[in-house]
Amino acid sequence: MSPRRSRRGGLPQPQEERRRSGQTAAAPVPPRPAQPREEPAAVRHGRGVAFVVSSPSGGGKTTVVRALVDSMSGLRRSISVTTRMRRPGERSRVDYRFVSRPTFLRLREDGKLLEWAQVHRAEYGTLREPLLQALAAGTDVILSLDVQGARAVRRQLKDRAVLIFLLPPSLQALKARLVRRRTESPDAIAQRLSAAQKELRRLATYDYAVVNRRVEQAVEDVRAIVLAERLRLRSGADVFAATKKFSAAASANEPPQHRGRSTKHDDADSDGRAH
Ligand code: 5GP
Repeated sequence: MSPRRSRRGGLPQPQEERRRSGQTAAAPVPPRPAQPREEPAAVRHGRGVAFVVSSPSGGGKTTVVRALVDSMSGLRRSISVTTRMRRPGERSRVDYRFVSRPTFLRLREDGKLLEWAQVHRAEYGTLREPLLQALAAGTDVILSLDVQGARAVRRQLKDRAVLIFLLPPSLQALKARLVRRRTESPDAIAQRLSAAQKELRRLATYDYAVVNRRVEQAVEDVRAIVLAERLRLRSGADVFAATKKFSAAASANEPPQHRGRSTKHDDADSDGRAH
């Protein structure tokens, strides 16, 4: 919103009034951020972060993850391989890479999967190479995984993995969503609801919990997490990148001065999280 101008076309009205009455001008109110919003200038060095989103089936993670990836730069969606049947409207290589069971087993045996799990009687897995390559190139990747997959990613990527649990507002709301979706039989719905209750027991191992009452709000909440995590100092290299412009030593090309911090990612505790 631009401030209203006085009739003389001079200062904006409130400032002109203050000038007449001899008051000191207050600091100008900063304008609202223009759309699209500028994303923070992260100082982090090098590798990207793997954001793992888990939710019970029907919890809305596909919608939330899609909306987020479409509206944020530097964030890519990981496309899993699965042996489950393609649902109406799903596209191969966009939603999943749909493969036969023998193909899946071969990928697993050849070590091509960073993690894999059997969920609702089908196999799902994350291809190692595309994920590690994206992270190495500094791109953040968002993965929709079940709780077993989230645990495996945390184990392997340590503090480069951020785990987000997307919660349905209630079990009733979840059931209503699954019924509305019309992709599962009543038996499958009952199975998914009981799985949801088990999955919820893993919530304490996650970093963030977002309640998906309204998709738009859930997207904003997950966006806030991604932005905050981009600003997190994870390693000595991040600290060096953040301070080098201000440090005379750094401008003389001296090695990083960050005693007490590791340049590797070995400053994680036993559950893999850095503090
Ligand atoms: P759906 O069949 O409804 O698309 O997915 C079923 C469950 O499998 C969801 O909880 C989904 O997050 C999970 N899932 C999808 N891809 C993977 C994967 O690559 N690895 C693991 N561990 N779980 C996955």
